[in-house]
Amino acid sequence: MLYTSLRIITRVSANLLCKLLGQPSVSNLETKLHDKQIQIQQLEEQERALYRVISKIRASLELETIFRTATKETCKLLRVERIAVYRFYENWGGEFVSDFEFAETGWDDVDTLGKNTVWNDSYLQENQGGRYRNNEALVVSDIYAAGLSQCHLEILEQFHIRAYATASIFVGKKLWGVLAAYQHSQPHEWKQLEIQFLSQIATQLGFAVKQAEFLAQAEQKAAELYKANQQQEILFNLVAEIRESLNIDTLFKTTVREIRKALRSDRVSIFRFDPESNYTSGEFVSENVLPDYDSAIAIKVKDDCFGRKYALAYHQGRIQVLSDIYQAGLKDCHIQLLEQFQIKAQIVAPLMKGKTLWGLLCVHQCHCSREWKKSEIQFIHQLAAQFNVALEHSELLEQFRSQANQLAQANNALELANSQLEKLSKLDALTQIANRHCFDQFLEQEWDRLKLSENSLSLIIFDIDYFKDYNDSYGHLAGDECLIQVAHAAQSVLKRPTDLLARYGGEEFVVILPNTNESGAIKVTKLIQKSIQELKIAHTKKDNFQHFVTVSLGVATQRSTDKSSPQELINAADKALYKAKEQGRNRWVCAAKF
Ligand code: GH3
Ligand code: MG
Ligand code: MG
Repeated sequence: MLYTSLRIITRVSANLLCKLLGQPSVSNLETKLHDKQIQIQQLEEQERALYRVISKIRASLELETIFRTATKETCKLLRVERIAVYRFYENWGGEFVSDFEFAETGWDDVDTLGKNTVWNDSYLQENQGGRYRNNEALVVSDIYAAGLSQCHLEILEQFHIRAYATASIFVGKKLWGVLAAYQHSQPHEWKQLEIQFLSQIATQLGFAVKQAEFLAQAEQKAAELYKANQQQEILFNLVAEIRESLNIDTLFKTTVREIRKALRSDRVSIFRFDPESNYTSGEFVSENVLPDYDSAIAIKVKDDCFGRKYALAYHQGRIQVLSDIYQAGLKDCHIQLLEQFQIKAQIVAPLMKGKTLWGLLCVHQCHCSREWKKSEIQFIHQLAAQFNVALEHSELLEQFRSQANQLAQANNALELANSQLEKLSKLDALTQIANRHCFDQFLEQEWDRLKLSENSLSLIIFDIDYFKDYNDSYGHLAGDECLIQVAHAAQSVLKRPTDLLARYGGEEFVVILPNTNESGAIKVTKLIQKSIQELKIAHTKKDNFQHFVTVSLGVATQRSTDKSSPQELINAADKALYKAKEQGRNRWVCAAKF
């Protein structure tokens, strides 16, 4: 008790002393200390909040997420009713980006805000962002106590704004937009810390936009690189194909297909000038076109201007690049020509064959105009240049092909002539059966074969009886005719493809019968004799009873076991024939039988 009283007395006297000395009292100091502590606490809290929001901003690379998070957190922390983002256009007009803002429940359906509302403030437009450019925070605690102009008040009322604070968002050095805090329901006394917080968030948002722009640029660069790489690959493959291609039509087809795919254009085609037209006419010889557009194939194009005005330029390597045919200052006739093929934009490159302008490589855009990229133009340029090789190739190939064709034709004719000659060399000119030479060869060949087998070979030699008399009676021509008929009659008897009838000389004939024994040969001999008798060729001047042409036949057979020569076989048959003559003619004699 005593202690407490003493403490009170000491405290009162200390305060008295302080007053006397003109110093602040202890309780005053305590209050100030307390305020300071609260301020420090608030500052710490705000720092923590700021850190939290910044972390969130940095966690995302996507602008919409960043702004949504930032506006929501800021709205909660400042305990205001709306945080909105205003973005400037190029002309310093602008809009509230609804996707970026956050409003407390009850204020989220304020009519005009929150709907990508365009707010073109003439002051801001005239002054290119006005005070925002200086990074000044604008703070109004109550719009009715801020001395604002009537028109400004009307706009704010339209948005139900009672109090506001704004901070500029800079992306790099460029004023990008404004971060705004709004109070709708009542005035709001903005504290220094709140304004500071809003500014810091605006700064961070500026960084985020910059980062997103970098990212978008990097992505675009990567996409462009990818596309360029793809084009390079297509170019590489096509060049390889061009150099190896042996068929120009296939090459054209591959080329137009791959280019259209690479450039995503509506039509790619190859135009060929009529060689004699002096570049005034031609046609599309190959194309790849989307189904929505007409085919240009085989349509004759006549353009007198081209030969006069453009051919030389293309000859010198000109590439025509039109982004929009209606903005290129073209003549009406030219536009009509392009419209015929629904062309709105195009790249046209020359296709040279040696030093001649052979045709044009055309890339068409039909559904709209198109800004062609440098890389695309270069791609077409490089590709068109390669065609020189292919076209020259194709011409050489064509020459080579036609030479090869001529050669093949000549070869065929030669072969035909040879085979005819060979046939002729083996044929008897009069009777058209095998001649003596052919007989000799065939007998030789069959004789060799006989040696390897167990089979027999037979030979029949026959001779027309009294043929001298026949000639004398009927004349030499009739004699020739008789020879022909006899040969045909004998030929008709022979059924096996290996049997051979030949004219042995004069009116003497011989038959080789491979794989035929004696009895088989005698059968054939009789049949030959009969077939000639049946011809009943009149021959009255004979000294026997027959008044028709007859023959005498000698037949001989040889076995493989025998060690004789073909000549011996001929001799044997000949001897048999002689015997037949001797015995009165019109008969056959077998060599083995005498
Ligand atoms: P044989 O019965 O003894 O055989 O008497 P032949 O008169 O037939 O015999 P010969 O050898 O004396 O006469 C053959 C005649 O055949 C001589 C020739 O005028 C005739 N001759 C030979 N080759 C041809 C020919 O190509 N055409 C014609 N028309 N006659 C030919
Ligand atoms: Mg004779
Ligand atoms: Mg005779």
